[in-house]
Amino acid sequence: MSKKILILPGDGIGPEIVAEAVNVINCLREESGLEVELDEALVGGAAYDAAGHPLPEATLELAREADAILLGAVGGAKWESLDIAVRPEKGLLGLRSELNLFANLRPAILYPQLADASTLKPEVVSGLNLMIVRELTGGIYFGQPRGIRKLESGEKEGYNTLIYKESEIDRILRVAFDIARKRESRVCSVDKANVLECTELWREVAIRTGKEYPDIELSHMYVDNAAMQLVKAPKQFDVMVTTNMFGDILSDAAAMLTGSIGMLPSASLDKHGKGMYEPIHGSAPDIAGQGVANPLATILSVAMMLRYSLDEPAMADRIEQAVDQVLDQGLRTADIISDGMQQVGTEAMGNAVVAALKS
Ligand code: NAD
Repeated sequence: MSKKILILPGDGIGPEIVAEAVNVINCLREESGLEVELDEALVGGAAYDAAGHPLPEATLELAREADAILLGAVGGAKWESLDIAVRPEKGLLGLRSELNLFANLRPAILYPQLADASTLKPEVVSGLNLMIVRELTGGIYFGQPRGIRKLESGEKEGYNTLIYKESEIDRILRVAFDIARKRESRVCSVDKANVLECTELWREVAIRTGKEYPDIELSHMYVDNAAMQLVKAPKQFDVMVTTNMFGDILSDAAAMLTGSIGMLPSASLDKHGKGMYEPIHGSAPDIAGQGVANPLATILSVAMMLRYSLDEPAMADRIEQAVDQVLDQGLRTADIISDGMQQVGTEAMGNAVVAALKS
């Protein structure tokens, strides 16, 4: 039966890069029999302009019906002065919480062809292929009570709550173990169990759940050490799993190891494998409309979608190989250009991936 994909181009460079990803999906439909139906809707600033809300009910309804969602990016200066409740980012956060997308998968992959783009020495990062699994709907970003209160002394005090139930920890650990099975079978669980009781429980549950995955090598690391190891020897990791806040910070650091924000996809999954797929970068208003944005992160997000929501791992492999091939051909968008390479725009890069898929 044909699966439904909802396309949400969003703002800024979103529509430009998503158009190239849709061409890739259409190529697989025509050439390889991929059975999917595409719908398109508004989200973010574009939705606010058209419907007065960054996540209109009609978009949410289509998102609920879809098997997978492909999102470009949201946001831009135009909407920054709006009330926080209707800012573009609320569209994204609303989708994550309404669809219960609790597992955020952030691969950090450094194609050997781009090793020079990293700020680290090529030998430290070349060939890096790490997956960070971040808990996305719990922890300190959502825990209650939270707020800023005034003390009797007149001084103000800010407070947040780091809180996880055993079931929340268990389900994200299972996602990490399942992913590790398709990779090198190693999971590093990151916590701060020496200081925070909540993550002491995290470690306890990780060990308990890990016993059900005897084929996976489970290790534990304190978050401060994990940050250090990520910049010292990142290739030691296969899958890292951690809390919402630790994952937020570590995944950004890991992304920057690769030096090319325009290359990295991401997925946010629910417990049934339904997911929202998007590049990790934002709407890049500084280059929007110029046809120079790198579409590869969005195209690689389609590969993740095929692997994690549409059960088409062979097609996912083909997209990744096609991207590898265009990099081998020396094609580069402006963000990843280096000496001796051929600079191309968004559309030419997208076309090259489609041509490689067909070859
Ligand atoms: P950004 O990721 O949009 O841009 C950072 C820098 O990277 C810019 O110089 C940009 O030109 C460049 N860049 C980003 N994507 C690129 C691509 N595909 N190809 C080439 N260069 C690329 O981050 P920012 O400038 O901090 O934020 C801009 C807007 O995006 C803000 O409104 C922010 O809130 C929003 N944002 C949205 C998301 C999302 O939709 N998931 C994520 C982050 C930021």
